[in-house]
Amino acid sequence: MSRYYTFSAADAVEYARQFGGVEDPQSLVSAEEVGDGNLNLVFKIRDTAGVSRVIVKQALPYVRCVGESWPLTIDRSRIEAETLIVHAEYCPQHTVKVLHHDPELAVMVQEDLSDHLIWRGELVKGKYYPQAASQLGEYLAQTLFHTSDLYQDAQKKKSEVGRFLNPELCLITEDLFFTDPYIEHERNRFEPALKPEVDALQADMTLRLAVASLKQRFLSNAEALLHGDVHSGSIFVAEGSLKVIDAEFGFYGPIGFDPGSAMGNLLLNYCALPGLVATREAADGREQRLQELRDLWLSFSERFLQLARDKTQDVAFKVPGYAEHFLQQIWHDAVGYCGSELIRRTIGFSQIADLKNIRDDEMRHDCQRHAVSLGQWLIITAPQINDIEALIARIRQNG
Ligand code: ADP
Ligand code: MG
Ligand code: MG
Ligand code: MG
Repeated sequence: MSRYYTFSAADAVEYARQFGGVEDPQSLVSAEEVGDGNLNLVFKIRDTAGVSRVIVKQALPYVRCVGESWPLTIDRSRIEAETLIVHAEYCPQHTVKVLHHDPELAVMVQEDLSDHLIWRGELVKGKYYPQAASQLGEYLAQTLFHTSDLYQDAQKKKSEVGRFLNPELCLITEDLFFTDPYIEHERNRFEPALKPEVDALQADMTLRLAVASLKQRFLSNAEALLHGDVHSGSIFVAEGSLKVIDAEFGFYGPIGFDPGSAMGNLLLNYCALPGLVATREAADGREQRLQELRDLWLSFSERFLQLARDKTQDVAFKVPGYAEHFLQQIWHDAVGYCGSELIRRTIGFSQIADLKNIRDDEMRHDCQRHAVSLGQWLIITAPQINDIEALIARIRQNG
C-alpha cells in the first residue's frame, strides 16, 4: 500500500515543520497554495509574521489543468527532486535548493524564492534583467557538461540514464512538441484566423522531415541529464540572480534541447512584444531579447568548451577539435528545437502569456503568425545557420 495522499494546507504546514529545516518549526502556521503551473500543488508555508519560509511541492496523480481524466505518474516528483539535486551539485548558484523529498508521497520541500519573480511575467511586462541570459547559459553548460559522456564515467552514466527514464513525461514532450502541431489533433489550440498558416505548415513536407529528425534525436540521443522544460516560466529572476525550478521533465536527452527551449522562449517574447508594450519600448525590448540570445549562447558555449578543455575524462574525447565539433552539433540541434518551441507554443496545447496577453485581435494574430513563420524557418534552415551572429542577422531581416 502506498502512503500517498493529497496534502491539505494543514498537511503541508505539518510536513514543513518536520522537514523544512527551520530553526523554529512551531512558528510555521499557515500554507497558501500558489501553484500556477499545469501539473502540481505548490504551497508557500508562512510563519506567525506572515513571512513565507519554505515551499512544499506535491505531484498530483493527474494533469492538474485537465483533471482526473488525464492520469500522470507521481514518479515525476522523484525525477524532479533528483534532477535538481544533481544539477545543484554542478551549479548550486542557479538551481533551486531541494531541502527534503519523499518519492512515495511525491512531495519535496524547497527553499523559498519569494524574493524572486518568474522571468516570463517580467518579460511580458517588458522588464529587463541584463545578467539573466548569461547566468542561464552558465547553468546549462555546468549541468549538461557534467552529466555528459565527456565527464561522466561510462558505467555510472548508464545507470543514471536508467534512474532518469521518465517515460510518461517524455511522452508529453514527444507528442506536444513534435507530433500534434504538425497534424490535425484535438489538443492543438489556435484561433480560426491562423487556420491558413496551420494548414500550410502541416502540408510542408520539408518541415515535417526536419521535425521527424528532431523527434528521433529527442527519443534516441541520451547525451546528458536535461532539465527538459527550460522555459521562462521555470526560471526565477531577481537583480543579479537567476534560479531554475520545475525539473519534472528531467531525462537523458539531446543537449541542444535545453538551450533550444530557452532560446525559443526569448524569441516568443521577441515576436509578442509589439502587442504587449508601446512601439518604442517594444523596439528596445526586441534588442534586449537578441542580446540575451547572444549572451545565452556565448556563455553556454564558452563555458562548455572551457569545461571540455579542463575536465574531459575520456581520452578519446580529448583529441583536438572534438569538443568544438560536438558543440557545433549541439548548436544545430538547439536552433531546430528553438523553432519547434516557437511553433508548439503558438498553435499547440501549451499556450503562453506572452502571446495570450495581447488584447488586440489583429495584433495578436500578426504576432502569432510571426512566431510560426520564424519557427518554420529555424527548423528548416538549422543545418545552414552556422553561428549565433548569423542567426541574429536573419531574425532581424525577417522583421
Ligand atoms: P508546476 O510543475 O506545476 O509547473 P512549478 O514548480 O513551476 O510547478 O511552480 C508553480 C509556481 O509556484 C511557480 O510559478 C511559482 O509561482 C511558485 N513556486 C514554485 N517554486 C517556488 C519556490 N521555490 N519559491 C517560491 N515560489 C515558488
Ligand atoms: Mg512550472
Ligand atoms: Mg509546468
Ligand atoms: Mg512543472
